[in-house]
Amino acid sequence: MTAFELSETPIDPAALRVRLARPEAGAFAVFEGWVRNEHRGREVRRLEYEVFSEMARTEGQAIVEEAAARFPGCEVLCVHRCGVAEVGELAVWIGATAGHRAAAFAACRLVIEEIKRRLPVWKKEHFAGAEPEWVDCTQEHNPALRREEFHSRQARLPEFGAAGQARLAAANVLVVGAGGLGCVAADTLAAAGVGRLTVIDPGLVELSNLPRQSLYTAEDLGLAKAVAAEVRLRARNPFIAIEGVVGALQETNAHARIAGRTLVLDCTDQFAARFLLHDACRALGVPLVQAAAIGWDGSVNTFGAAGATSGCLHCLWPGRSPGELAAAGDCNGGAVFGPAVNALGLMQATEAIKLLVGLPVASATQTLLVSWLDYSTLAVPRVAQPGCPVCDTAAGAARAAAASPVAEADLFVSVAELERRGVAWQVLNLEVAPPSAALARRPVVAAAGMPWAELRAAAARWPTLVVCAHGVRSVAVVRELRAEGVATVFALAPEVFP
Ligand SMILES: [Zn+2]
Repeated sequence: MTAFELSETPIDPAALRVRLARPEAGAFAVFEGWVRNEHRGREVRRLEYEVFSEMARTEGQAIVEEAAARFPGCEVLCVHRCGVAEVGELAVWIGATAGHRAAAFAACRLVIEEIKRRLPVWKKEHFAGAEPEWVDCTQEHNPALRREEFHSRQARLPEFGAAGQARLAAANVLVVGAGGLGCVAADTLAAAGVGRLTVIDPGLVELSNLPRQSLYTAEDLGLAKAVAAEVRLRARNPFIAIEGVVGALQETNAHARIAGRTLVLDCTDQFAARFLLHDACRALGVPLVQAAAIGWDGSVNTFGAAGATSGCLHCLWPGRSPGELAAAGDCNGGAVFGPAVNALGLMQATEAIKLLVGLPVASATQTLLVSWLDYSTLAVPRVAQPGCPVCDTAAGAARAAAASPVAEADLFVSVAELERRGVAWQVLNLEVAPPSAALARRPVVAAAGMPWAELRAAAARWPTLVVCAHGVRSVAVVRELRAEGVATVFALAPEVFP
């Protein structure tokens, strides 16, 4: 029972309600638009709706069918009035039934918003003591809304201007994952005016998502994230095209989803997905902005930016398969500080916007590392690693010859192993907080906030153990120090992480 109808006679809600009734529906949401007696300060006597019938029927039917398809198990009936309607009569009636209230509410809301936006309906307002006036309902919704005005503050930036705004409007961006990163990133990109935005996610909105996934409210519980995100983003910026895709990015569909995009944002929380996206984007020549969060820390990398030469994702995790990395610890389900995730999503979107308008981005050649526990930041140059299956080059081979003979597998060391080797060694602490008691007995270099050149000089002085709260930044730092020729530098072996 999903249908759109036009009615020349007064609408009877009770009869429509009966038509939608079915035993498997647990929820029924209804929207009624009434003819009211006032419009912008003037007294309205009655309305006269003129509808381009064939167009309106086709478009109306498309709208209700789209809504029913978006919310599985949902049925929608919409009746729009045409002809003369008196004050107090129904102008439009929308009923939606579903298994769950969230879907019924959302379908109802989606249909009225699309009706206001797309249905070719004119109305003649008959005022008290004045000539009647025709109003195009699709424009009447909010005549003050203009794209230029919407983006006027941003376009005033000298780095942006009308040209920058036009580049954003021409962009076609895919956001993979609509969780804590993706919600903020997609919201920011939509608000900035990215012309075509697609959000893909296979999941449903769950209670534990709400504290950090800012596109959803408790009313969205049980809805597909991609659908809820689409509804919210469309309301955020009515001047762009938004598409929510319910599903996962997989090997079978990655290339089809990515081809033709201007840019991709990786907002997933699993290593397998990150490598899949990275490799597909690289193969298709589409730049990728990737962010990852764990605990209080996070990182941002941009791969494949035009004109930037840098190491790839495989260079960051040499010799370890996505499966091994996942076993060592994906971020999904782990402890995470919500605002850190959101701030990272914002950083990711900021890098994306700058990239789209043609500004330089720091993450194109460096891994940006941030801890929200002590506000320490670190930008680690990301160079192509010798032996990387993707980007090993002659230059990489030359680096390998000049660099440490220590094997990649030997990046990690335990405290016990260092003690056994009996060499003098220091701790290079990336955190503001002091290291654990066992480490504090050693000379400690407080490296939080230290510029890279100074950090490298300190690490080159003695055999060095680099530590941080989660072992993420420390590994990145050790890897880069090795690449730059500092041989006796190690990260704590994973088994001794607290
Ligand atoms: Zn590489």
